[in-house]
Amino acid sequence: MTGHTAHVVVIGGGIAGTSAALALHKAGISVTVCEAHPGSAGDLGAFLTLAGNGMRALDAIDAATVISEVGFDLTELSALGADGVPLTTRPMGEPDHPLYRFRCLRWSALTSALQAEAVRRGIPLRHDATFVSAIQDASGVTASFADGSRITADLLLGADGINSRVRRIVDPQAATPRYAGQRVFYGYTSTAQPPTAPGRITMVRGQAASFGYAVSPAGETFWFARQSAAAVTETGPATAALRHELLEALRWDSTPTADIVEATDDLLVTNTSDLPDVTTWSRGRLLLTGDAAHAASPATGQGASMAFEDAVVLAKALRDSDSVNQAITLFERVRMPRTQRNMEASAAMTGRGTPPPAQSPTSPTSQDTELLRQMDWNAPLTPTPTSS
Ligand SMILES: Cc1cc2nc3c(=O)[nH]c(=O)nc-3n(C[C@H](O)[C@H](O)[C@H](O)COP(=O)(O)OP(=O)(O)OC[C@H]3O[C@@H](n4cnc5c(N)ncnc54)[C@H](O)[C@@H]3O)c2cc1C
Repeated sequence: MTGHTAHVVVIGGGIAGTSAALALHKAGISVTVCEAHPGSAGDLGAFLTLAGNGMRALDAIDAATVISEVGFDLTELSALGADGVPLTTRPMGEPDHPLYRFRCLRWSALTSALQAEAVRRGIPLRHDATFVSAIQDASGVTASFADGSRITADLLLGADGINSRVRRIVDPQAATPRYAGQRVFYGYTSTAQPPTAPGRITMVRGQAASFGYAVSPAGETFWFARQSAAAVTETGPATAALRHELLEALRWDSTPTADIVEATDDLLVTNTSDLPDVTTWSRGRLLLTGDAAHAASPATGQGASMAFEDAVVLAKALRDSDSVNQAITLFERVRMPRTQRNMEASAAMTGRGTPPPAQSPTSPTSQDTELLRQMDWNAPLTPTPTSS
């Protein structure tokens, strides 16, 4: 037992839930993860980029190596104008540090690797466990699941994503997710051969859509396109009409983007959404983390990295506090300002349609000593008024 927290039940076995479980386990706290999906995860088939600050947070919980074996490194960002002329090329993150490089990987591969690591460390991970409700008193909190089972713990961590059920219990008045104004398409192709270099992600500032692509060491082009338009009615495989609409938008530009899409058999589409300011993250022994607390639109490419940072800070807060209440207060004080800035930055970038992930204002620099101290597992968690 660490501090006053013997057991935590984590609702959601996605990115935030599994990373929190790894961190809590490292802090010596017993943890059970409950995931609604019957398999490893339900997902669209999309990919994401993990930023250097996220990799650093994973390193603090000894999970950076296992994740660095999934996907591929990104070390350089190149920006291309709509006329096909290169605008800038610059290094991303900390390219000389093998564990802190940006990574490009499929969402399902990331979740599976995190879940496998949790199981390898002996953390109980229940699938097909859909959280329904919770009751709490001075001695603990009991979570109830759709199959009638219950788990009692000292703390219930809501890591159940943007449509969080836990958030509705924490604050029934909480704002609900809103459409952030852009559709996002994803695809993979092994036949397109766009100009690139090893470890490079190219962001194209198109006239009618923004586009990003990177080619894996195996020669597969991973790409996404963000198009400002009405929300699609159905997410998943894109219809022929949506594909046509995207191609029409990309053909305004003298860049390789339309050829990449032409060379892709199956396109996936989803809507960007985010949460307006969520001001209440906790209620007694219930606490939110990850997208349940601070879902940003994807523009800054920081959602997963923010969740990893949450995990480190929460585990340290519980480890270093005398009570669950004190730990929650500390966690909120450290994490709210930083995640709020990411949400605002992402919303602004979505509006402008110029969203290169490596330009996130929340990516750490070597000068960001406060964040580095928060991510240092051995440093005590004592927020300063300038906590970032
Ligand atoms: C289009 C798009 C592109 C993105 N690109 C990037 C990127 O490049 N880089 C980046 O860092 N981030 C990116 N993000 C954001 C990132 O995907 C999220 O921030 C991240 O998935 C949040 O993780 P999470 O665990 O909080 O939520 P989720 O990933 O949504 O996981 C929540 C989990 O909780 C489970 N769950 C839900 N309800 C219940 C319940 N009642 N009981 C039990 N379990 C439940 C779900 O099944 C799921 O497994 C992107 C997001 C989108 C939509």
